[in-house]
Amino acid sequence: MTKYIFVTGGVTSSLGKGIIAASLAKLLQSRGLKVTIQKFDPYINVDPGTLNPYEHGECFVTEDGAETDLDLGHYERFLNIFTSQANNVTTGRIYQTVINKEREGAYLGKTVQVIPHITDEIKRRMLLLGDTGNYDIVITEIGGTVGDIESLPFVEAVRQLQWEMEEEDCLVVHLTLIPYLKAAKELKTKPTQHSVKLMSENGVHPDIIVCRTERALNQELKKKIALFCNVKTEAVIEAMDASSIYEVPLKMLNEGLDVIVLKKLQINGYSAPELGKWKEFLDKLKYPSGKVTIGLIGKYIELQDAYKSILESFVHAGAMNECKVQIVNVHSEFVTEENVAEKLGNLDGLLVAPGFGKRGVEGKIIAVQYAREKKLPFFGICLGMQMAAIEFARNVLNLKDAHSTEMDENTSNPVIDLMEDQKAVTTKGGTMRLGSYPCELKLGSLANAIYGQSYISERHRHRWEFNNAYLDRFEKAGMIASGKNPATGLVEIIELKDHPFFIGVQYHPELKSTVENPQPIFVNFIKAARVFAESKGTEKK
Ligand code: GLN
Repeated sequence: MTKYIFVTGGVTSSLGKGIIAASLAKLLQSRGLKVTIQKFDPYINVDPGTLNPYEHGECFVTEDGAETDLDLGHYERFLNIFTSQANNVTTGRIYQTVINKEREGAYLGKTVQVIPHITDEIKRRMLLLGDTGNYDIVITEIGGTVGDIESLPFVEAVRQLQWEMEEEDCLVVHLTLIPYLKAAKELKTKPTQHSVKLMSENGVHPDIIVCRTERALNQELKKKIALFCNVKTEAVIEAMDASSIYEVPLKMLNEGLDVIVLKKLQINGYSAPELGKWKEFLDKLKYPSGKVTIGLIGKYIELQDAYKSILESFVHAGAMNECKVQIVNVHSEFVTEENVAEKLGNLDGLLVAPGFGKRGVEGKIIAVQYAREKKLPFFGICLGMQMAAIEFARNVLNLKDAHSTEMDENTSNPVIDLMEDQKAVTTKGGTMRLGSYPCELKLGSLANAIYGQSYISERHRHRWEFNNAYLDRFEKAGMIASGKNPATGLVEIIELKDHPFFIGVQYHPELKSTVENPQPIFVNFIKAARVFAESKGTEKK
């Protein structure tokens, strides 16, 4: 029998609902329960695949090729589980399903309305993962802020489910903000009271209130919140700002969030939390024995959410190496031949980020050339790998106009070309090469050594590929294809023979790095950066 936890947010956005949901899930998982998390987003896009990274941050891709919200990345990184298409639902997808059904005549002439048709479809999807019988607990994070017009159907669906279920089978956690007013030297509870009142007006009463705050809440304040929000004092949970998102599960453990959840859901016989590996990771994160500086070159660097999974992968890989990873953001649009040495001169490693379109690519190519020639550890992801191929073609094979047909349709040397099965594609959403594909590694290659196996599987999100017509020339000149799709021969990994660490991957390894399983290329890249730093004598203790 699956139990359901709904996580809503009030007062403002960006309170970290995803992290609270993931932390609660981690604690319940650590007590031996099978848990998953899903996110319901109130916007009208069918999925975030067509959203600009400036709008929505990174698009997280699941094993089954769903383009999803970046919170699913947190769920996977915290829980060390895979999510899927079913774990992320938007208003757009709900309406699309209902409208398609209406066109098929499935509503038998009835007027199709928000209530009950849209809310029924929301409820059906909220229960889908639980219906598989694979989970003891399904946590549902409701995107947006309570009080927004677009969140209303979701809140109404939660109200109905609460009414339909036994009291001990579902509960609502509400995340709010307790602002500190400097002038008054006081934490203020009024916004929380209003936000809970707003929920009550919609018929949903939170069982637990998690309070984001810069300062500790004393018992008196907790009591006040409890009294005015009609919950027990033990159900008022303090969520102080943490230095790392990975500390939040332990903070929630201290506050007893998991215990009150288990009590309310009447789950007995659970074990003590098993967080040994998690704590070990945190220790390594907190007490590094060295430091490396990695340049992240991309065009969305103003918005760190655009590279969320890459940044988190560096946190995992850094801890694994007991090494602090300092990221220097390099805007690819402003890298030129004249300033490249100045911009990249202090780095111990360079990562060229994924991306789409022409803006900033020449800066990326110049940066790759610098890393190749200076033997600076290099790691290219997706577009980053494609830029490494173009740089090699231009500067080593002397094909001066080599390019990707994504940026220059008329190049006479399309070393990166549109995949054959993409040529007929005209619509944008969900039509890239998405999700996980197998890859065979060349024996004795760097990739083979990194993974320690010959067959791997990684996740993809692209339309262009390495043009195999050029492979012979590349390999003769020292850049080899060390990973290929066994069925199609599509080049998935390129690496340089004559370089201590130079690897480009067509896939997105950052999507599979978790706290418990740091991604091996990231781990080895940091290791190589550390060696590079030591060789320069700049590794700082
Ligand atoms: N724009 C490139 C392609 O579609 C790379 C995509 C990416 O970096 N995710 O192939």
